[in-house]
Amino acid sequence: MSHLRDACGVFGVFAPGHDVARIAYFGLFALQHRGQESAGIAVADEGQVTVIKDLGLVSQVFNERMLTSLSGQHAIGHVRYSTTGSTGWHNSQPLVRSRNGDVIALGHNGNLVNTTQLRDELLSRGVKFSGTTDTEVITALIAHEAQGDLLGAVRTAVGKIRGAFSATVMSGKALVGFRDPYGVRPLVLGRYDGHPVISSETAGLDILGAQFEREIAPGEIVIADAEHGLRSVRVELEGARPALCIFEFIYFARPDSTMVGRNLHQARQAMGRHLALEAPVEADLVVPVPDTGIPAAIGYSSASGIPYTEGLIKNRYVHRTFIQPDDDLRKRGIHMKLNPLTAVIKGKRLVVVDDSIVRGNTTTKLVEMLFGAGAAEVHLRISAPPIKWPCFYGIDMATRAELIAANLSVEDIRRKVGATTLHYLTLDGLQASTGLPETQFCRACFTGDYPIAVPEEYAMCKMRFEKGAACEP
Ligand code: SF4
Repeated sequence: MSHLRDACGVFGVFAPGHDVARIAYFGLFALQHRGQESAGIAVADEGQVTVIKDLGLVSQVFNERMLTSLSGQHAIGHVRYSTTGSTGWHNSQPLVRSRNGDVIALGHNGNLVNTTQLRDELLSRGVKFSGTTDTEVITALIAHEAQGDLLGAVRTAVGKIRGAFSATVMSGKALVGFRDPYGVRPLVLGRYDGHPVISSETAGLDILGAQFEREIAPGEIVIADAEHGLRSVRVELEGARPALCIFEFIYFARPDSTMVGRNLHQARQAMGRHLALEAPVEADLVVPVPDTGIPAAIGYSSASGIPYTEGLIKNRYVHRTFIQPDDDLRKRGIHMKLNPLTAVIKGKRLVVVDDSIVRGNTTTKLVEMLFGAGAAEVHLRISAPPIKWPCFYGIDMATRAELIAANLSVEDIRRKVGATTLHYLTLDGLQASTGLPETQFCRACFTGDYPIAVPEEYAMCKMRFEKGAACEP
């Protein structure tokens, strides 16, 4: 279930003669899991850029009338979950700025680690900011790089910004997609009726019937325009190595997406199989915590021979509501999202498979709920190692003080959440399940080994062991 929240999903399409706003809409629809706070689409028509964005889900923000009014030759789209800056219309994306008499629009997934420094530099040059996001800094850097074309400006900006970024940006004439030199967040290139499409995940291509062409490489910038078609350049950064977020494999990305040639559903099943080998237990049923625990639970069941069953029903039609529950309803907590199938689990010894434990509160309530529904035993199996370190690259995770595994041993956590037994997948088991070498990944939230250096003041803020004010950037 959704313990960690991803930063965003980005999309772009360059397809003159096609309904690019509608293509972007459905691309975003497939990327909705990456962000549910706001959605936006920018379209360029004969050099004129128009943006529609608002708080809410893709299906809440756009209607038929809006899409019909957004005609053009190319478009970008964005779904957001805030990792820096507050939730608010002014922080929703795509962000817009003027550049050399043109207008640019930009959407970003990730998190920069040198926002403050870049923002200060831009402020000293008289650049004004209306929001508080690192995305605004990237947009401003590109907009205020007066020399050269959009490609040149993006290239210069990529040389200055540090951290995790996969982004799409457009001017009246061109569409650009770019990815940081570590490739922390995913970004793929596809073809829709022969035209270039850029998406955070392959699921954003599949929904359109677009062909997957390849992943956009770490440090790569691709640009499409009417004059030159599709071109690509690379920005090299000394010391950079591929560092795809391993949590994309565990939980963030859709199971039907493919990354580095691996289908994520199959990788997650392999995590479940490894869990069964590492921590076998005598039990009656394997129950996933829906939806994200499902593939690993299938894997656990197939390796252990213990039957798989649904034991928790998720309210599928409520993703995120802006209507706050009142105090009485809030006390229902986890029951608002999940309901136990009492008839199935009563008197049974359960293996319950979930993807992560962050603070531990939700897990405690989950275990409580299962025992409340009559479970005889609850054997928790987590398809990721203990999260001991905060994320600086775009995942809203918590400070170290709030991470339960940074402070307690596995046995203490078991006792705290009230499970009969508890086992986390080992790092080796996780790595083997991806079928890829560890040198491909960022695994910093498990190891503390951060591939992109994090400035001390920012690091201290998230590493702190006492609660304090919100940290920059
Ligand atoms: S620290 Fe963890 S969540 Fe953040 S990018 Fe690295 S692997 Fe992903």
